[in-house]
Amino acid sequence: MDTKTLQTPIEYLKGVGPGRADLLKTELGIHRFQDLLQFFPFRYIDKSRFYKISELQDTSAEVQIIGKITNVRTLPMKRGKRLVADFEDETGSMELVWFRGHKWILENLKIDTPYVIFGKLNHFKGSFSMPHPEIDELDNSKIKSQIRLQPVYPSTEKLSKRGISNRVISTLIFGLLEQAKTFQETLPHNVLSDLKMLSKTEAMRHVHFPQSAELLSKAQFRLKFEEFYYIQLQLLRKNAVHKAKIKGFPFEQVGEYFNTFYKSVLPFELTNAQKRVLKEIRKDLGSNAQMNRLLQGDVGSGKTIVALMTMLMAIDNGFQACLMAPTEILATQHYEGLSELCEPIGVEVALLTGSTKKKDRTILHERLRNGDLHILIGTHALIEDTVQFKNLGLAVIDEQHRFGVAQRAKLWKKNSLPPHVLVMTATPIPRTLAMSLYGDLDVSVIDELPPGRKAIKTVHRYDSNRLKVFKFIKDEIDKGRQVYIVYPLIEESANFDYKDLMDGYASIEREFPKPKYQVSIVHGKMKPEDKAYEMERFVKGKTQIMVATTVIEVGVNVPNASLMIIESAERFGLSQLHQLRGRVGRGAEQSYCVLITGKKLSSDGKTRMETMTATNDGFQIAEVDLKLRGPGNLMGTQQSGILNLKIADLVKDNQILKTARSYAHHVIKVDLNFQMDEHKMINLTYRAMFKDQTIWNYIS
Ligand code: ADP
Ligand code: MG
Repeated sequence: MDTKTLQTPIEYLKGVGPGRADLLKTELGIHRFQDLLQFFPFRYIDKSRFYKISELQDTSAEVQIIGKITNVRTLPMKRGKRLVADFEDETGSMELVWFRGHKWILENLKIDTPYVIFGKLNHFKGSFSMPHPEIDELDNSKIKSQIRLQPVYPSTEKLSKRGISNRVISTLIFGLLEQAKTFQETLPHNVLSDLKMLSKTEAMRHVHFPQSAELLSKAQFRLKFEEFYYIQLQLLRKNAVHKAKIKGFPFEQVGEYFNTFYKSVLPFELTNAQKRVLKEIRKDLGSNAQMNRLLQGDVGSGKTIVALMTMLMAIDNGFQACLMAPTEILATQHYEGLSELCEPIGVEVALLTGSTKKKDRTILHERLRNGDLHILIGTHALIEDTVQFKNLGLAVIDEQHRFGVAQRAKLWKKNSLPPHVLVMTATPIPRTLAMSLYGDLDVSVIDELPPGRKAIKTVHRYDSNRLKVFKFIKDEIDKGRQVYIVYPLIEESANFDYKDLMDGYASIEREFPKPKYQVSIVHGKMKPEDKAYEMERFVKGKTQIMVATTVIEVGVNVPNASLMIIESAERFGLSQLHQLRGRVGRGAEQSYCVLITGKKLSSDGKTRMETMTATNDGFQIAEVDLKLRGPGNLMGTQQSGILNLKIADLVKDNQILKTARSYAHHVIKVDLNFQMDEHKMINLTYRAMFKDQTIWNYIS
């Protein structure tokens, strides 16, 4: 079947028609022949094996048995009746049960005739039964063709109600495969022979109607590989094209500002990881291509200083820089920290947020346009059209997952040439995911914490032990430390969560009375100026306890805070818990994190608590998170398209991904535009696949 025919609307398939076509489209997203072929079974029923009744063990297993019915009777139930048949083979007997459809069954069942039954086992009062079995007369001539793995397709309630059963779907696919006969090969010969792969045609047949378990797994391997391969080709190609095409401002020199700062202002020695990353960045900036780099580093690894020094490189070359943060609190804190560091070297820094006064804004706009201002720090307010730079050379984006694609794109438009972009994230992303999400970005990793940090001690406590936790809080405060107490507020608007927070706040105020104790509170429903005021009091040490929601999560830096209490910790995801914990352990003191939960924990919840108490390593935590939740729930994945994988699984098929990536890498290296003879089919497939899709515009 050629590429064009594959695009035929599904209503033209024999057996579909307009009504079914509508359902297929709305319920399953199947619009064209191609979509139906790529609608893969999510499991297979093993019909290659026949069981004897005496062998049966697991309830709820699906089994196939040959035997005959010796007796049928109707039994009363609380409501209605059930139909029970005795079914036996030469090794034993069991019951078949029907709760509905009695009439048809009574009329059609034959006593003492050999049947093949199939279904899920139940165990009841010491013997096995099978409710609503699939039942077929045994036909020895047919038995051979029945022995196979039967596909099971995903379905919806609406589909089953409207009679589009698994059998219907598989019949449609069977028909389409018959019609298609063969499929164009989509992988190069060397890949096929190196990896001993099935052809496309064979793979399509065996993934839907496998003749054996071995052929099924070969078919799956081939199709998963193909899926990853084209994703990687696209990502890697995009990166290469980008580098070749999109010019950036060359920052040729490391100059005065950078050097003075490095020699006489920088308050500590950079870690080796920070130095390495700065070198990587400098190399990018010195080339003629636009930098598009992701900087990953665990909380507290010192990304801010790297960002500042990168901005100084821009300024040394006569450009301006901006730093965009996701919240006002964070932007303000960056502003305060960085302006202090910039002051001695005469670099001008300003802050722009939603609450900047109109009058100040006007002045700021002016200073930005005439180039007086070197660095602008702010929130989303930075990307408004009224904000015009004289020459923006670098944009740093902190905690990028909070920004949408469109917002980032807007930043780009502020110049004739796009500014260099450095995106920083404290949410470590597992390698597998990074490969797929950020294949088109260059990635730097700070994998080392500044020296002298003590690992945070994390414990898990049940809320019945709250009094002991309060005592511990008091001890820490007596030592002069500060404490965060965080409540889950998953959605800022959910009143239910909000009540939890306010109740918690009230009880904290009761337990920690004024004037000995001062308690701050910060949450999403407060006005920005009130939030800033409360934050300020905590930062300055005027309050010892900060009761907060997750607005506190990103970036906030109060080195004297040494204790993080997380209430209802089971309601947070792993990466969020890790982020929250990162708010402490920033000073010289031993820091602690206490996770408080109810007694009842789901098994995922238990794993999360165990992971948190076992390790401080963000990358390790991210791996567990990925396994627990799948990629769909990890930050940054929604916009990536990675969730549209049709057959491959990012976590389970990790190894296949790596193989596919390395093959794709080779192609891009030698033949960027797929012009070589042996890449002809790549060219065709690639074009067909990405023709009308601008997917995964991750940054651009
Ligand atoms: P994050 O990567 O989470 O953004 P920050 O940039 O906020 O981390 O750095 C955390 C703290 O570590 C800050 O107080 C910063 O001044 C300090 N810091 C950064 N780099 C070093 C270093 N090389 N040596 C000592 N302290 C450092
Ligand atoms: Mg930070």
